[in-house]
Amino acid sequence: MATKEDFYKLLGVERNASDAEIKKSYRSKAMKFHPDRNADNPVEAEAKFKQIKEAYEVLSDPKKRAAYDQFGHAGVDSSMGGGGAGFGGFSGAEGFGSIFEEIFGGGGGGRQQRSNGSQRGSDLRHSLEITLEEAVAGVEKKIRIPVLVVCNECSGSGAKKGSSPIICSTCHGHGQVRMQQGFFSIQQACPTCRGTGKQIKDPCGKCYGQGRVQDIKTLSAKIPAGVDTGDRIRLAGEGEAGERGGPTGDLYIDIQVKQHAIFTRDGANLYCEVPISFVTACLGDEIEVPTLDGKVLLKIPAETQTGKSFRLRGKGVKQVRGGPVGDLLCKVQIETPVNLTKDQKALVEKLGESLTSGGKHHSPQESSWIDGVKNFFDKLTG
Ligand SMILES: [Zn+2]
Ligand SMILES: [Zn+2]
Repeated sequence: MATKEDFYKLLGVERNASDAEIKKSYRSKAMKFHPDRNADNPVEAEAKFKQIKEAYEVLSDPKKRAAYDQFGHAGVDSSMGGGGAGFGGFSGAEGFGSIFEEIFGGGGGGRQQRSNGSQRGSDLRHSLEITLEEAVAGVEKKIRIPVLVVCNECSGSGAKKGSSPIICSTCHGHGQVRMQQGFFSIQQACPTCRGTGKQIKDPCGKCYGQGRVQDIKTLSAKIPAGVDTGDRIRLAGEGEAGERGGPTGDLYIDIQVKQHAIFTRDGANLYCEVPISFVTACLGDEIEVPTLDGKVLLKIPAETQTGKSFRLRGKGVKQVRGGPVGDLLCKVQIETPVNLTKDQKALVEKLGESLTSGGKHHSPQESSWIDGVKNFFDKLTG
């Protein structure tokens, strides 16, 4: 193997960097050199990506980091042979699976290695923005996601077309090796073949022996009626392809409902504000209000105060988890007339005079408000 660059330098961190610093730097560098983001220079980017990944695999593992600090690359290089120092094998040439898992945060799916060395593919997450109408009625959406799929060139074996993986010379196909560690003899995954029992002598040129390649998958996702922001839909088996014949992971779709111009939603209920005229508020009327399934008539009683909410039963949202259908609450806002003509102003003035001279009480909130203000000042001067 050619001389390797210093792992700390590769990650751009100091030798005494904390785990968090190492992780942070690794993430940003891995994103930067991810082959998806370097379409014009994929080979170089991938090489760099693998170097960074290898450096991180060592520096993020306390045991390996200690060995690296003490012995340099020789202390951690699995290509040096049987791994006498007692730590498990690792390979710098791992696929892009785990970086994807980290970016998407994983989905709780186990990535345990199976006995035959196969590994379940990562779960993926995709966030999907839909309109309120779509959320309420349900919708079928086409989504495109970057995902690792089984390489069609080698059918996932990782070996060049026409060749097959050979039996691993270190473990003779067992996938496990015995290691002496102090008094104990422990069995662990073979560092040469990473537990698969097989070695690829002639790797597939398309997937570089990984058995999986990066692709963009187009899927049709059925979004059920009633979903809301924060809901998550699972598409089983639509995640990342497994390694070495392992099962495929799942895809989780995180729903994000866009803000609506008229309605806001809280659980099953919808809310909207309806401006009404001063005259409607005084005398009462029937007005048209919008609902998600068309206009309906709403009766505004005479002498309606601003801010009053009217409930339209069953005009809310049918929830995805069942339960009663919600209501629509229309909150009226009384509009003060603008652009009054001289005549109109005179009429309002006349109305004002009439309201104050009749001896009748016309302002329902005024007296309690005045009492409140009086109490407030009494307390202040108390
Ligand atoms: Zn391949
Ligand atoms: Zn082996």
